[in-house]
Amino acid sequence: MSDVSMIIDGERRAAPATFGVVNPATGAVHADAPDCSREQLDSAFDSAAKAFTDWRRDEAARRAALAAGAELLRAATDRIAPVLTAEQGKPLAAAVVEVRGAAHWLKYFSRLELPREVIQDDARARVEVVRRPMGVVAAITPWNFPVMLASWKIGPALLAGNTMVLKPSPYTPRSTLLMAEVLAEALPPGVLNAVSGSDELGRWMTAHPVPRKISFTGSVATGKHIAASAAPDLKRVTLELGGNDAAILLDDVDPAAITEKIFQGAFGNSGQVCSAIKRLYVPESRHDEIVDALAARAAAARLGDGLDPGTELGPVQNRPQFERVGGLVAEALRGGAKAVAGGGPLDGPGFFFQPTVLTGAAEGTRIVDEEQFGPALPVLTYRDVDEAVARANATMFGLSGSVWSADPDRAEAVADQLDCGTAWVNAHVALGPNQPFGGFKWSGIGVENGPWGLAGFTETQVRYRAR
Ligand code: NAD
Repeated sequence: MSDVSMIIDGERRAAPATFGVVNPATGAVHADAPDCSREQLDSAFDSAAKAFTDWRRDEAARRAALAAGAELLRAATDRIAPVLTAEQGKPLAAAVVEVRGAAHWLKYFSRLELPREVIQDDARARVEVVRRPMGVVAAITPWNFPVMLASWKIGPALLAGNTMVLKPSPYTPRSTLLMAEVLAEALPPGVLNAVSGSDELGRWMTAHPVPRKISFTGSVATGKHIAASAAPDLKRVTLELGGNDAAILLDDVDPAAITEKIFQGAFGNSGQVCSAIKRLYVPESRHDEIVDALAARAAAARLGDGLDPGTELGPVQNRPQFERVGGLVAEALRGGAKAVAGGGPLDGPGFFFQPTVLTGAAEGTRIVDEEQFGPALPVLTYRDVDEAVARANATMFGLSGSVWSADPDRAEAVADQLDCGTAWVNAHVALGPNQPFGGFKWSGIGVENGPWGLAGFTETQVRYRAR
């Protein structure tokens, strides 16, 4: 039996079977997690459906429970963060930030207003637009920020009056189950259920007749399957999918001022961030000095086990992803690109890949055209800014992007031309609970966070009162 449990109907539940969870710093199974059966999934959805009847009725009680949950989660940081590091690989300090960030997000939603808008009030009628909950939400999350991304769904879904069945990635199930166990102390039974299992469990969830909404964060490929699976039942979907973010440096940038920020934007969480910098466009005239500074920073990064206090970057989270990043880099090198930092995996156990900066890779190479989602960054040169913008936008991704300049107004005029959900100026991966986050094109449907994300967990209802 696993030492972590699923949460179904407010209770800790073991499953008939368990599956192994690998620590990416060693490459070996270090723990296990329950493998939810189909019957258990049915009972989780039944419980969520029953809980919905009362949960939807009392907004003040929901706010109080969410706020209490946020406090409990914050208080459990020291319990959850090491579990997150052991299964995800990120440095412990980053895991602490993630758990605290999730608590911050829940707190934000506990206070967010549910919009009500009077659109007409005259002799004929009083007409108001209100928001109604949808019912049961099926929430499915990826392995890069399991705790944080679950909070982006739990907060708004529950505040709006929905109940939930949540499934983390099979690569990182344990921190999410602990999170749900902690939050369940503040919530009525059935309001938040958490189950763990393989991708198959995700397929059962999206095909299940009970949920009215699927909130998914993960890859484009899975997002398309989910959209197809939701269609026959007309389930609502929010899809937060992959990105291939471009950062465009203008010709007046000061490398000393931006190198650290660019490095963090590309290599933070070992590059496993949906909105990381995945293509860096630099003016031809400034190429060498920018690349030298970035390569020196990448080469100095301290790679290691996330539990080691000196570690700055952890391993790639899982073997398939590790092999994919290695394959993309090797293919670029074979095609004539040059690694000015890193270039391959580290010898020894674990999925460690050197922070890699590539020059000389162009569009048409997979590491430029596809989402690498790992610690490898291609640097591309451009001659004029319009050309850089056109190349940045010439993709089916559209999650986010950034423009960097000593003159923020000049940068903003360029950012204005980017086709993506967030366009940063002199920043990248700057997120907040109040900012709607989502992607254009294949990077998603709908947004999370802020009142706009909350609206995605509601149906719009018109209240028409005749005079
Ligand atoms: P993934 O799509 O492989 O898996 C995500 C989740 O979906 C997992 O829980 C998995 O078990 C489940 N799943 C897999 N197949 C399924 C199916 N057919 N039906 C239902 N569920 C299924 O993604 P991943 O590899 O875990 O995560 C990395 C991807 O997530 C990257 O592309 C990254 O850019 C993206 N991402 C996007 C955001 C965002 O907010 N836009 C945030 C983080 C990560």
